[in-house]
Amino acid sequence: MKTDFKTLKELHQYYAVHNDCKLKESATQPVYEIDPPSSGILFIGEAPGRNEDLQGRPFVGAAGKFLDELLQIIGLTREEVYVTNIVKYKPPNNRDPSDEEKKACRVWLNRELLFVNPKVIVTLGRHALIKFVPEAKISTDHGNSFTHSTGIPVFAMYHPAAALYNPNLKDTMKEDFLKLKEFLKTADKKIKKDREKKEEINEILKM
Ligand code: URA
Repeated sequence: MKTDFKTLKELHQYYAVHNDCKLKESATQPVYEIDPPSSGILFIGEAPGRNEDLQGRPFVGAAGKFLDELLQIIGLTREEVYVTNIVKYKPPNNRDPSDEEKKACRVWLNRELLFVNPKVIVTLGRHALIKFVPEAKISTDHGNSFTHSTGIPVFAMYHPAAALYNPNLKDTMKEDFLKLKEFLKTADKKIKKDREKKEEINEILKM
C-alpha cells in the first residue's frame, strides 16, 4: 500500500482507485479538495450531496453557501480552510452513510488527516463528531472543544444543512462560530504543547 504522497491530489487519486466503498457504483465521482489549508483548520462533514457529486468538490451546494457565510463571520474564506467528508461518495437519496460505507472510507480519510496535519478539526454534524469523540452528543456538545488522543483539538458544530431545515439553528451556529473564533485565538499555544507529546501518526491511523 502506498503511503508517501507528494500532494493531496495524488493521495486522493490513489484512494479513488484503492477503496472498496460500494457508493462508488452509484456516485458520479469522488468528492475532495486538493489544496491544504493556510489556516490549519480542517472542517469535516458527512457525505457529499447532489451538487458535490456533480462538481467533485465538497460543500458547493446550499449547505456550503451557508458554511461560507459562517466562515465570513469569523474572518475566514473557504480558500483558507480545508473541507472534507467522512465518506467521499454521495449516498443515494441523500440518506446517511452506513457504518460499512464509513469503514470503507476510513483509511482514505485518515491518510488525508495525516497529510493535512490540521491544527484544529471542526466537525460538522453527528457523523463527524462521533468519529473523534464517540461519546459526544451534538445536541449538548455543539460549540465545545475536545482534545482527541492525537492531541488535535476537535471543535463540535452542528451540520450547516441542519440549519437549513431548522432555521432556529442558524443563530446557534453563528454563536458557535464566534466561540470557535475565540477558541482559535487562545488555543495556538496549548495546541502546540499538547501535540508535541503525542505519537500522532499511530494515533491517527488507529481511528
Ligand atoms: N453535506 C456534507 O456533509 N458534505 C458535503 O460535501 C455537502 C453537504
